[in-house]
Amino acid sequence: MHFAFTEEQQAFADSVRRFAQGRLEQDALTRAHDPRYPFDVAQLMSAQGLMGITIAEADGGQGGTLMDAIIAIEQVAAACPRSADVAQFGNFGPIRTFAEYATAQQKARWLPDLLAGHMVMSLGITEPSAGSAATDLRTTAKPDGSHYLINGSKLFSTFSPDAAIFLIYVRYGPGVGGIGSVIVERCELHFDNCRVPAENVLLGPGGFKKQMAGFNIERLGNSARSLAFGRYAFEKARAHAATREQFGRPLCEFQGLQWKFAEMAIKLEGAQLLLYRAATNADRGMPSAYETAVAKATCNQVGFEVASDAVQVMGATGYSQENLSEWCMRRCRGWMIAGGSIEIMKNRIAEHIFDRRFDQRRPKPAEAAE
Ligand SMILES: Cc1cc2nc3c(=O)[nH]c(=O)nc-3n(C[C@H](O)[C@H](O)[C@H](O)COP(=O)(O)OP(=O)(O)OC[C@H]3O[C@@H](n4cnc5c(N)ncnc54)[C@H](O)[C@@H]3O)c2cc1C
Repeated sequence: MHFAFTEEQQAFADSVRRFAQGRLEQDALTRAHDPRYPFDVAQLMSAQGLMGITIAEADGGQGGTLMDAIIAIEQVAAACPRSADVAQFGNFGPIRTFAEYATAQQKARWLPDLLAGHMVMSLGITEPSAGSAATDLRTTAKPDGSHYLINGSKLFSTFSPDAAIFLIYVRYGPGVGGIGSVIVERCELHFDNCRVPAENVLLGPGGFKKQMAGFNIERLGNSARSLAFGRYAFEKARAHAATREQFGRPLCEFQGLQWKFAEMAIKLEGAQLLLYRAATNADRGMPSAYETAVAKATCNQVGFEVASDAVQVMGATGYSQENLSEWCMRRCRGWMIAGGSIEIMKNRIAEHIFDRRFDQRRPKPAEAAE
């Protein structure tokens, strides 16, 4: 068991850090407060070989490991947190599920632009009545000659205003087995007899389990960003506490703050090990649902708590929008809800502990009477 990067991993981390410090750090503040997807960063990162890290070389990716992609998120976020969104969308997001299950024709059509940073793909799972209960989704896909007719609506899809294509979870028939997904080209996320060619089907009925396996990769990217943003805020607070003086002494000389920093470091170190375990065990395959749930619940919680403590240590400076500590805290707060909330991750962990499934739905009347 090794607790250090290999020589190759260290060299990769160093090169990504140099790139991020040289090309991304300078505009980190303005970039963070721009709501649009940073296509300029995506193109820079593509030229640097930081898009499609875990995607096969035959498909235009880098043929690397999940750990490589996590190292990229960490190093990019340390210089420019907003740019880590590109590392997420270019490596862990819907692009990864797409690359796993798309036909050769679908890949040829969309992957080159996605990997070049000219296009971004958004993910549509959540619906007004289907949040945590994702399998309650109602958006239907009905065959119509050489097309499918899509009806329903999606919401909260990240970067949807900038996305050219959407990976949309749909229902071909009843139950979990009736769920699959289609690729929809740019449109409103309210589908009223939206016609999609049959060749845009990514996964037909029965695709839900595969989609969820792909989604565990997205969850590791979400975990990595939470942790990296917590660490970014931690580093800013550390520098602040070392120089800011009150009562004639630097803040870091007050024991109340020293212990806060010690607690932040303990949380960051522990969460990082859980994240690295899930990624390393998965290597280029699919990560374990249990290890992913443990990593995500921990990294989401830790990222937010550390960023929040960092804001506290930096006082009004930390709360102001003149630096990115409050921004990191707010983003981390969202990831406690997104991509399977912390509570849903804990449900998954409990199922592993007891080695049985706990159905969250009310028993049907007949079952209840038994
Ligand atoms: C920053 C951000 C980005 C997002 N990006 C996307 C995206 O790109 N694409 C997309 O499709 N969706 C996206 N979402 C939506 C996200 O997937 C949903 O918000 C999430 O699934 C939770 O659904 P909900 O908000 O409807 O909350 P609800 O499901 O209504 O849950 C409300 C609360 O109840 C808890 N809860 C629910 N059920 C249980 C249970 N069985 N046991 C214990 N607690 C439970 C939840 O954990 C939560 O705290 C995003 C959300 C956020 C915040």
